[in-house]
Amino acid sequence: MSATIYYEKDANLADLKDKTLCVLGYGSQGRAHARNLHDSGLKVVVGLRDGSATFKQVEEDGLQALPITEAVAQADLISFLMPDPAQPEVYYRYVDGKMKKGCTLLFAHGFNIHYGQITPPADVDVIMVAPKGPGKIVRDLYEEGQGVPCLVAIHQDVSGAALKTGLAYALGLGGARAGVVETTFLEETETDLFGEQAVLCGGLAALIKAGFETLVEAGYAPEMAYFECCHELKLIIDLIYQGGLKKMRKFVSDTAKWGDVTRGPRVVDEYTKEEMRQILAEIQDGRFASEWVLENQAKRPRYNALLRREDEHPIEEVGERLRGMMSWLK
Ligand code: NAD
Ligand code: MG
Repeated sequence: MSATIYYEKDANLADLKDKTLCVLGYGSQGRAHARNLHDSGLKVVVGLRDGSATFKQVEEDGLQALPITEAVAQADLISFLMPDPAQPEVYYRYVDGKMKKGCTLLFAHGFNIHYGQITPPADVDVIMVAPKGPGKIVRDLYEEGQGVPCLVAIHQDVSGAALKTGLAYALGLGGARAGVVETTFLEETETDLFGEQAVLCGGLAALIKAGFETLVEAGYAPEMAYFECCHELKLIIDLIYQGGLKKMRKFVSDTAKWGDVTRGPRVVDEYTKEEMRQILAEIQDGRFASEWVLENQAKRPRYNALLRREDEHPIEEVGERLRGMMSWLK
């Protein structure tokens, strides 16, 4: 079933007029949200931890920064835009029991709500507005008069106006200029985790490494293996990004296309797909979430060890050397 998509005409900034929007976190998303909403004529305060070095930056950006407690006390809407593992502590320490009556809680990813790491009281609206792009692009496109498409989802709608609030926020961000796709916290969380695990980060990194290792173990130069299995990905991905698999196939040779359609399905086969279904099942039944929450509580021993090992993979050394020759990357 296709999703409902909203556009500029479906959203009204007046739904957030006279409201104070509190942005918590001033990183990738936080800074872009705060600046775009402010430039759209909405009232924004940025809540920061006492003594945070970011106070200066917020003020240089022409916005108001306040200690979290003060920002939360005035807020009609609170955006949680710090890293997901940090959000429960911030919520229970500064927000729970301290927000104004009728305050809306807004998230840019569903993890903490969907897996019960944050359980807001029953009498507040809980919504999601999630741009489908990094903060820098959210800001740059806004300044160009365009926007990054957003997702909108409603977890709790006490006021009866939660969707209007979300659409107004997406309009203030610039996202409604491109389109706002309606989803649920469950769907956004589970598909986001699956995508990054099976395809975008996990699957792709494993594919690159396996290709590189196969060539190097067969005696080919690591430099050649890097070019063929990593460097050239950028050209391919750009074509797919612009025009789908179809456009990519228009630009590669017939030989490449023949190899693609006859060999690709042998690399990613039914076994891989069965593993993908397992990975999805672990997301759906909470096993992945529980593992990650516990890993954070234990101060990330496996996370650190596994990533350290990744850093030591030979592809990183060769890659660094070769990228040093590519002056346009600097
Ligand atoms: P980020 O890592 O850029 O946020 C860092 C900021 O959070 C810091 O600058 C600081 O201001 C604050 N912060 C960090 N630790 C904190 C703590 N313990 N207490 C209080 N504040 C703290 O985060 P991000 O990538 O902008 O992600 C924010 C939210 O947006 C997350 O829910 C994420 O899933 C979601 N999201 C991110 C992207 C993206 O492209 N980065 C896209 C869509 C949604
Ligand atoms: Mg994601």
